[in-house]
Amino acid sequence: MSELVLQAQGLGKTYRSGKLETPVLSDIDFTLAPGETVAIVGASGSGKSTLLHCLGALDQPTSGNVSLLGKDPFRLGEQQRGALRNQHLGFVYQFHHLLPEFSALENVAMPLLIRRIGKAQAFDAAREMLTRVGLGHRLDHKPGELSGGERQRAAIARALVTRPACVLADEPTGNLDRGTADAVFALMMELNTQLTTAFVLVTHDPDLAARCQRTLHLRDGRLVSEPVPAQ
Ligand code: ADP
Ligand code: MG
Repeated sequence: MSELVLQAQGLGKTYRSGKLETPVLSDIDFTLAPGETVAIVGASGSGKSTLLHCLGALDQPTSGNVSLLGKDPFRLGEQQRGALRNQHLGFVYQFHHLLPEFSALENVAMPLLIRRIGKAQAFDAAREMLTRVGLGHRLDHKPGELSGGERQRAAIARALVTRPACVLADEPTGNLDRGTADAVFALMMELNTQLTTAFVLVTHDPDLAARCQRTLHLRDGRLVSEPVPAQ
């Protein structure tokens, strides 16, 4: 498989509301190969989440284009764009976004049930992925009955249960203590190796970024490969 997982060319994003214009990203080129791990670092407000949303086809860029496994999601209708996202991408956020009234097993099975995969098959795959992330003994627990680290591991299992080509993770360990953050990060790197899932990881943590194959820095709306000089 030599096709790029993700590609952005000349990507720009300016938020507009009334007369107020907020330029956030400009002229960003980005490529992600199958199985690659890339860290994106930058100051708070530098546009990291905006970039991840544009790459993940959740937010439309103002200029340039995005390609996900060779297809431009913004040339598709909303329903097809959603299907493309569901097929190829997984998302992990700083706060787990698990549905509180459902068990870990039901939460992880959800992306497969949305695909209309049979219930038995969806639950089997969810059980397997939860076991892989070390939560085989917590299948019936609801998010409120899990620890912070366990919730993030369940969120990772949910992102990976569809075997996506790429996981986009927005400060996935930002809400965890050091030890738990290290363990959750190590789990993502292990899954990267086992399943050849590419990871784009937004993080504040230079130690975690250093464990990715490449680190890119967002500065003044541009994505650059050298670190931001100290002020
Ligand atoms: P980061 O994730 O790096 O902290 P964000 O991508 O969330 O940064 O935000 C980048 C900038 O864009 C911020 O200055 C923020 O205020 C602005 N911004 C984000 N979302 C919107 C929006 N919907 N409308 C206007 N401005 C926004
Ligand atoms: Mg952010």
